Amino acid sequence: MIRRTAALLCALLLPLSAALGEEDGELYMEEIVEDVLLDEEGDEVPLPEEPASAQVTEGFTPSYGSRYDPLPGEKNYWTLPMDITDEQAVWEMLMAPITVVDIGKKSGEKVQTYLYREPDEDSLKVGVVTCESQGVRVLETREDGWSLVECYSSSFHGTKVEAWNLLVSGYIPTRYLKQVEPNPSLGIVVDKLTQRLYIFQDGKLLTTLLCSTGIAMWNGSKYQPYNETRSGEFLLMSKVGTLVSDRLLCDMAIRFNSGDMIHEVPHVENADGTNNYSSTEFKLGTKCSHGCIRVQRNKTPEGINMGWIWSQLKSGSRVKFVIWEDWQGRQIETPAADTPLYYNPNKGQYYHRSDFCYSARKVTFQPFTYGQLEEEPFAGLEPCPYCVPPIRESAIAAINEAYAFGGDHDELLTSLRAGYYEYLEEN
Ligand SMILES: [Zn+2]
Repeated sequence: MIRRTAALLCALLLPLSAALGEEDGELYMEEIVEDVLLDEEGDEVPLPEEPASAQVTEGFTPSYGSRYDPLPGEKNYWTLPMDITDEQAVWEMLMAPITVVDIGKKSGEKVQTYLYREPDEDSLKVGVVTCESQGVRVLETREDGWSLVECYSSSFHGTKVEAWNLLVSGYIPTRYLKQVEPNPSLGIVVDKLTQRLYIFQDGKLLTTLLCSTGIAMWNGSKYQPYNETRSGEFLLMSKVGTLVSDRLLCDMAIRFNSGDMIHEVPHVENADGTNNYSSTEFKLGTKCSHGCIRVQRNKTPEGINMGWIWSQLKSGSRVKFVIWEDWQGRQIETPAADTPLYYNPNKGQYYHRSDFCYSARKVTFQPFTYGQLEEEPFAGLEPCPYCVPPIRESAIAAINEAYAFGGDHDELLTSLRAGYYEYLEEN
């Protein structure tokens, strides 16, 4: 609630002080009490029901739901607004050291430990953290050998602490904390709101790939809230290879958080031995996995796909891998109307972001603009699954409506999280 208030005030202060005159700016800041703004006579000025979406979006960081405000000088994954267009800031975040937990066990990235409610191993377990690969936000280093940290709980199926991808804080022995320098040339961001994977190399956004993160679901016999992909900052650790999940084969799996991996979009094998992606590939760009992150195999115009990521990584490369939480209230911006797009006038099925595309290497495309996308002959074109152009305005509007401030984009997950709050209350 404190942070919500702070976000509202940030959104409101600028226009308010501008409206009331500069010399009064400081006075009005001091008169703000709780959620109420006072005008000159001391009467309540009602707050708008919800701030404008653009202002809300600017305020969202990975620690948006935290009980703790940014520490003095804190500048890291937890405090950086989730804005992929700020290339320099994202790059600095990807290159910043990460604090991980090391309890001295081999294959640490598969091992998990707990955060405690008090600086005491006999107190209640309030969160789960994965060793070696998961970053934690250090809030306080105490003289009694304990630290207060925060992270999204890495609660998987069967855990005692059912904090399904909830931002939790708790105590851990300080001797377990270790700072790691990430890989200096490569970093990756996954945004659960846009269902895109952004590859940064040497300070620049190299390309954007379609992905699918996990989704809580009812599978016919049980609820699976642990399928929601856990957000946070991680290090890509071990190259695992091919995973088999049900009948699906997931190639090029790389572990980043205990059971969570990134891998190529899954396939089944046809009778003739070829790969068949028809049941999974069309879902890229939407949530649909059991927690792993599925990545496109089609090459972007830059020649990048999951195979490229696999080829760049050696086990132990420690590439920083960041997952941005899709906080309710975040919104996707509509691209400018003059954003260039391309199509094949000779019965092309897709619209493209580039005049070269691996989906039609020998075709010469015609340019048009994003502003024309709802007009003929462009209205029936689909977004190209190779070059990943911006999605249509109507699709953006549907996402923004689901994520509108005050709503709930995942009521099932919300209801299944209730058990965790009962567990905290009862203990
Ligand atoms: Zn294309």
